[in-house]
Parts: sequence; C-alpha cells; structure tokens
Amino acid sequence: MAKEGHKYIFVLGGVMSGVGKGVVTSSIGLLLQQKGYPVNLVKIDPYLNVDAGTMNPTEHGEVFVLRSGLETDQDMGNYERFLGRDLTAEDYMTSGMVYQSVINRERALGYHGKFVEAIPHVRDEIIERMEAAASYNGSRISVIEIGGTVGDFQNALFIEAARIMKIKHPDDVLFVMVSYLPVPGTIGEMKTKPTQSAVRELNSNGVQPDFLIARSTHTLDEKRKEKLAIWCNVRKEHVISAPDISSIYEAPLNFEKDKLGDMLLDALKLPEKRKASLAEWSRFVKAATNKKAPEISIAIVGKYFDTGDFVLSDAYLSVIEAIKFSAAKLGRHAKITWVNSKDLEKATTSLRDVRPTGRIGRSRGGTKATAVLGKFNGIIVPGGFGESGIEGKIKAIQFAREKKIPYFGLCYGMQLMVIEYARNVLKLKNAHTTEIQKNSQDPVVDVMLEQKKHLADNKYGGTMRLGSYPAYLKKGTMARAAYKKELVDERHRHRYEINSKYVKPLEAAGLVFSGTSPDGVLMEIAELPRSVHPFMLGTQFHPELQARPLAPHPLFTEFLRAAIAQKRKK
Ligand code: GLN
Repeated sequence: MAKEGHKYIFVLGGVMSGVGKGVVTSSIGLLLQQKGYPVNLVKIDPYLNVDAGTMNPTEHGEVFVLRSGLETDQDMGNYERFLGRDLTAEDYMTSGMVYQSVINRERALGYHGKFVEAIPHVRDEIIERMEAAASYNGSRISVIEIGGTVGDFQNALFIEAARIMKIKHPDDVLFVMVSYLPVPGTIGEMKTKPTQSAVRELNSNGVQPDFLIARSTHTLDEKRKEKLAIWCNVRKEHVISAPDISSIYEAPLNFEKDKLGDMLLDALKLPEKRKASLAEWSRFVKAATNKKAPEISIAIVGKYFDTGDFVLSDAYLSVIEAIKFSAAKLGRHAKITWVNSKDLEKATTSLRDVRPTGRIGRSRGGTKATAVLGKFNGIIVPGGFGESGIEGKIKAIQFAREKKIPYFGLCYGMQLMVIEYARNVLKLKNAHTTEIQKNSQDPVVDVMLEQKKHLADNKYGGTMRLGSYPAYLKKGTMARAAYKKELVDERHRHRYEINSKYVKPLEAAGLVFSGTSPDGVLMEIAELPRSVHPFMLGTQFHPELQARPLAPHPLFTEFLRAAIAQKRKK
C-alpha cells in the first residue's frame, strides 16, 4: 500500500551509462537526510538475474551484500556509505526478481485465470515493490535509481511504472535526469544535442524530467544552461552543472552549493526542516583529498580485474573505499597498488597501480615475483573464489608473515592465511581447501555442512552463508582491542569455513582464533599475537562492507596503523 504523502524522486540516465547516476542518487539522499528527512535509496537493475550473486565480478564489479544477506549491485554500497546507515532488501530490485514473483504468483493461481502480461501485471509488481520500500524504516522520501539509459529496452517497464506513479501521486513524484555533455576534442566545445535527444526520448515514454544534472568534463556555462532549459522544458535553475571531480564524496558538497537539495524540497512542496549540516562530511572530504598527506603504500593481491582490453578495480570497490576512510582518519593518503596473484605464481612479475579513477596503470619490467611485495607497508588479500591465482596469494601471505609486513585477509584471504600457516608452520604440506581439492589429505578449510546439499543440487543463487552474523571476540586479542567490544555483527558471503578438526593443532602452533560464532563452532577471525607479528589478521566476514566515510572500520584502521608503524621502521 502506498503511504499517504510519501515522496518519490526517480533518477534516470541519458546519453550513456557510467555517468554517475549512483553518485547523484547517493548525494541527493545525503542532502535530504541532512535537511531532516528520513530517506531510503532504491536501486533498480534491469537485468534478469534474480540478484547480483551469480555474476562474475569482472563483468559486474563487486557484489555488495546487505545486512539481510541479499546480494546486490555495488551502487548499494555507495548508498549505504553516503547515508551512513544500512539499507534493506526492499531497497533493491532486478527484473529477474520482479518476473520471478509474477511467475510464482501465476503458478499459484494468484491471477485467477487471467492472462498475465507485462502491462499491467509486471508493471504493477514493480509499483508494489516501490511502495513497499517506501513504507520501510520510517522513510519520508524514496530516491529510486533506474539502472541503464533512457531508450534501453530493458528498463522501459520500470520507466513506465514510474510514469504511473506520477499519475497516482501527481504532487509527490519528481524526475531527475543525469545526462552527459561531451566536449569532442576535434570541436573543443560542449555539445548539448545528445542530452536534448535523450530528453525527447524520455518524453516519448510520457515522462518529463523536472531536473537535469549535466555531467561533463567541464562546467556548464550560462549559454548552454539556457539552451538546455529551453529545449528540454526544464526550469533554468533546475539545470545543474556537474563537472568531473576528484572524489565522489565531493558531489553532495557541490550540489548543496547549487541549492539542489532545497530546490528538490520546494518542488516536492516540503519545507527545509533544518540547515543541512555537512561540516563533518566536509572534514572527511578534506582529509580524503589532501594531496599533502603522507603516503602509505598498500598492495591488494587479487585476481578479478581483466575485462577485455581494460583493467578495472571495481571488483574490490568496498575494500578500496574502506582503506580510504581509515587512511583519512589517520591523516594519510593510501596509495593502493594492484598485484595480480597469478603473476606472483611466475618467476618474475610487474606491478599495476590503482589510479584514483579506478583505472589501473601498468608498469614495465619484471622483478622476482614475491620480492615486489617488499616495498609495501601493508598487504591485503581480499575475497575470492576458485583456484586461479590462489598459490600466488598463499606466497604473498607467507612473504607478509615471514617479513613481518602487516597483513589483512578478507574471507578467502583469511582461509588462505590459515592454509599457509598449516602448510609452513604446522608442516602439513598438503593443507588445502576442499573448494579446490575435494579429497584433500588435510582439508584445513572445508565446505560448511549446510552448503553440501546446495552444491550437490547445483543451487548456487543466494545459497551461501550470507549477511550479518554475530561474533564473540576473545579478550586480550588484537581484534578485541580494535573493536573495543565483545560482540560484533559482520556481513558474510562464503560456503567454506575453517575445519574445526584443525583448530586445536593450529592454536597449539601459535595461531589465535580471536573471533568465533557465539556457539564457538565457526572461526570468524584468525590472528597472530602482536609479540610475533605487527599485524597478521584475517576475517571470515567482509568488514569492508560496513566501513563508512564517517565511521571507518576499526580493523582497517588498526591495519593501517600497523602499516604506518612499518613505514617508520623501514
Ligand atoms: N571461496 C571462499 C568461500 O566460499 C571465500 C569466499 C569469499 O572470499 N567471499 O568460502
């Protein structure tokens, strides 16, 4: 049921994908929240996958797991980071999810023998979901991002649902179009025509944008603002310039300068409840973009980044952001370097730097594989699946342990840390995970009991151990000191776990399991005592998913503190 007077802002993309609809959605969310309105942010992904969980990260980027366990698009991560709070499963929708509900209802005679069609049944299912999301969390305004670009076949039903929402709630619905204005090198002038065409395309769907966000490499000048206003039927002050910025976190500050938040509230006929307080956010942006901050150099040893001729770090987005937040808190600039674990398996290798844009540059020349790791102040092995590159990761972990370089292992990075310890300290040469070696002689990491059946039945979608689970932290450990509490909740996404049979021998050999499930059965954190290593810690969960700009994750902060100390010693 629709909530009376609830407000909806739809964010749509024109001209091309990848222009920052997610950042616009997140920024609008933050501004309205700071002005006193509870907001929820909704992402609509038009693909037919029921969730993002089965997609390859090199195709799709990171899978962001919500507290509830739903596997979603990385934009949901940005939403949570900007709002500084958790979102719910209702805040995410894919075409697959929508169609699955409609088909299940049809199979259960829920349509009472009628034809079941895209219009009205699928469209109405979408509307129901939008309205359901609105009634959660006491939200007053929903900002709903429709994925894809205007003119796509895939998102047309969602745009149609939004059009009906405007008819149902004429005073409560706004459309914001995020468009791109190219400045072709050969012409040297910003062109408005593609945006005009995109608006016309949207008009042909019966939708008129109320606001235009003009993304470009350059600032939009007055002349072009006027032109867009006239040709696109948008009030001139509602045409907002959004030139490229060095950090996405600057966006809400720029939009606030342009009074976007107030204009949205005016258009929704809502008063501003309080002045948007962005002081804390500004302080964070200043620290995060401070070019003069001393550098701290971190290697991420992973494998998901080749996509055709391009290399992207999207697969590890939350990890990169979590590092940035803790670095900003500590007054440092984290220089993140990508190390391909597959390269570490070779005799020599070269490095690729993660640039601020997310692109990864290549450096020439080769050095002895693991020796390249010696120049870093800290090493991270993030989450992952499958065999490729894992021996390289294990080599990196051994190097970090032996050379006392701070190490932080996330999920697979924790499992491999334990395998490395079992192989090289416990001397179980054949220690492995049954994910790779089914009949391993020493299955130090083994499939979880409830996962066996899912795998046997080929049930891969949404069946991992997903979402938030509590962990108890042992007194006197690094983990406990970092969190400063006994019980924590963290998000998970895995099928394998530390095999309980090996816990005692590993502990006898010096490894400490500092976090466990409340019943003591599942090992959630493994670490080496500080007396042995400055920071060697792995988590079965993904701490990066809960790191926020204004609330950096304590484990990332401790890891970076150790990295700073390591740099001083060098
Ligand atoms: N592949 C491992 C598992 O399924 C680790 C998963 C991860 O890193 N997210 O348990």
